[in-house]
Amino acid sequence: MLVLLDNGHGGLINGEYQTLGKRSPIWNDNSQLFEGEFNRAIVNGLIQELSRHKISYVNIAPEYWDVRLETRVKRANLYPKNNSFYLSVHANAGGGHGSEIFTSPGDTKSDKIATIFGNEYKHVFPDRKLRTDFSDGDLDKERRFYVLTKTRMPAILTENFFMDNEEECKNILMTKDGRDKIVHYHMNAILKVREKLFQL
Ligand SMILES: [Zn+2]
Repeated sequence: MLVLLDNGHGGLINGEYQTLGKRSPIWNDNSQLFEGEFNRAIVNGLIQELSRHKISYVNIAPEYWDVRLETRVKRANLYPKNNSFYLSVHANAGGGHGSEIFTSPGDTKSDKIATIFGNEYKHVFPDRKLRTDFSDGDLDKERRFYVLTKTRMPAILTENFFMDNEEECKNILMTKDGRDKIVHYHMNAILKVREKLFQL
């Protein structure tokens, strides 16, 4: 099994954030979260864990500038579709709380992967909300995100809490403990996905 890791947006180059928007408000204590930095922290944490478990991975966008979605998908599609899956990591915005797991529309292997991620999320964050629509009975919300519809392998996108929610931003997204838990839930899910959906 090969995990294709997508960190979503640009990072920081010489202290300058590379992506427009995609950041928290500036809080009263002057702190601010840049989503691309957060996404990288999770992806980098996963790389460490995947290496420890000897699971193959590819960092789809190791650069710090903002790699276009088309490029991310083109890179992913170089890999075989049968033994890989695509995981895009984000933090949410737009008012709300909790986390979401998206797949492409239709009932596919991606739905099974999203369900496993949803269950592991609930284990690690029992007191936090998992935002779902249960229209197809799965723990995911279906939307036509580019990286979900254009990748040829199963693909999911996790939106981890809301960076414009001060409580979640400061207590989860900006803390080591919160980030460790997010890595932990993703990693538990990847191990289950390997066990249940891919040959070891
Ligand atoms: Zn994002």
